[in-house]
Amino acid sequence: MVVGGGIVGASAAAFLAGAGARVLLVERDGLAAGASGANAGGIWHPVDPVLVALYRASLPLYRELAAGSNVFRMGERPAGLLEVASSEAAVRDEAAAMAEWYPELTPAVLDPAALRQAEPAVADGLWGCLLDLGYPIAPASGTYAFASLAESRGAVVRMGRAATLALAGDSVIGVRLDGELIPCGAVVAAAGPWTPGLLAPTEFRVPIRPLWGVVVEVEPATPLRHIVEEIDSGAGAATREAAAGRSRPDRAPAPDAAPEPPSVERVHVSVVPTPGVTAAGATQLDAEPDPAAWVEPVLLQAGRLLPGLLEAPIRGVRCCPRPLSADGRPLIGAVPGTRGLVIAAGHGPWGISTGPESGRLAADLALGRAPAIPAELDPARFA
Ligand SMILES: Cc1cc2nc3c(=O)[nH]c(=O)nc-3n(C[C@H](O)[C@H](O)[C@H](O)COP(=O)(O)OP(=O)(O)OC[C@H]3O[C@@H](n4cnc5c(N)ncnc54)[C@H](O)[C@@H]3O)c2cc1C
Repeated sequence: MVVGGGIVGASAAAFLAGAGARVLLVERDGLAAGASGANAGGIWHPVDPVLVALYRASLPLYRELAAGSNVFRMGERPAGLLEVASSEAAVRDEAAAMAEWYPELTPAVLDPAALRQAEPAVADGLWGCLLDLGYPIAPASGTYAFASLAESRGAVVRMGRAATLALAGDSVIGVRLDGELIPCGAVVAAAGPWTPGLLAPTEFRVPIRPLWGVVVEVEPATPLRHIVEEIDSGAGAATREAAAGRSRPDRAPAPDAAPEPPSVERVHVSVVPTPGVTAAGATQLDAEPDPAAWVEPVLLQAGRLLPGLLEAPIRGVRCCPRPLSADGRPLIGAVPGTRGLVIAAGHGPWGISTGPESGRLAADLALGRAPAIPAELDPARFA
C-alpha cells in the first residue's frame, strides 16, 4: 500500500509493481494534488551532497521514464541555471564555491554584457554565474507518468479518499479507507507535508512541516533560454555550508502563526521556463497564504531581474506546501517502533529532483530488501 500520489508515492508504486508486488496507491485528492503538481518545474542539482546522490540516481530513472512515456518529457541537455545579482563580488563568491564543490557544473562568471548576450531578457547591469544544470519539465508530468507506469504494471490507483493507518500493537496491518480495512503486507507513507498526521497513531513524531510556495505562471513574449535565480546575499557562504553537509536546522514557526502580509522581501526569485508557461516564484511562507495576494510581489521581485515579466500575460497562480523536515533532508526508511511501515517524505524544495530514487529506495525497503540508504536519511535520526 502506498499512501500519497505525489512524485515520491507514484514512483514507489511503479517500482513496487515492477518488482511483482500487488500494489494499491491511495491518493486523498487527485494525483499530484500537492507540491508535486504545483512546483516550479525544475529537475536540478541540489547543493547538499546527500541530496546530490539522490538527484544523480533519479536522473537515469527519469530518462527511462521519458523513453516509455507520452506524458513526461525532459531535455537531452540541461537548460543551464543563471544565478544573477547586482553585486559582482556575490557572483564571484558563488562561482568559487560551486567550482570548489561541484566543478562538473562548470561555473562561469558572466559580466553584464556577456550575461545579456547569454540571456537577453535580463535587466541591465547584472552579473551572472552560469551553471550547467537544470531540466525544466511540466510540473505534474513526472508524477502522472510514474502513476501510469505503475498501472501498466498492474498497480491500482484509487483517488478521492484519504487513508488512515490500521495498527495492531506495534504493527501496521493495513489502511482504512472510509472505515473499511484494507489489509496489506507493508505501507509506504509518502504523504508529503501531511505525513505527520498520517503517522500520528504511531509513536514516531514526524518532524516535517509545510513551507508554502506561491508561483505565478506567465507567458513572456520571448521565452527564457535558462532558469534564472537571484543570488541572495551571502550565497557563496551558504553554498559552502550546504555542500559541506552542514544543513541548517529548521526554525519551526509557532503552530498558530498568522499568514504573513504580502511583501516583495519574502520572495526569493526563481524563474523556470517550463513547457507551456514560465513559472515565476517563489515564496517561502510558514502559514498558508492567499495566493492571489502574492501575485504582485512575486512579479515585482522577478521583474527587477527580468523586466519583460512585468508585461507578460498572467496565466495562473500555483500555491502549495513544501514538505520541510527539521534538518532539510528527507526521511527515507523504516519508521522507528512500528513494523511494516516505511516513510519517504520531507523532500523540501528538492522533491522533484530527488523523488524517483527516494521512491525506489522506499519500494525496496517495503519488499524486505536492504537498499543502501545513507544514514543521514534514516528516520531513526529523529527517534
Ligand atoms: C513553490 C514550489 C516550487 C518547487 N519547485 C521545485 C523544483 O523546481 N524542483 C524540485 O525538485 N522541487 C521543487 N519543489 C519541491 C517539490 O515540489 C516537493 O518536494 C515534492 O513535490 C514533494 O513530493 P511528495 O510526493 O513527497 O509530496 P506531495 O507532492 O505533497 O504529495 C503528497 C500527496 O499525499 C496526499 N495525501 C496526504 N495525506 C493523505 C492521506 N491520508 N491519504 C491519501 N493521500 C494523502 C496529498 O493529497 C498529496 O497529493 C517545489 C515546491 C514548491 C512548493
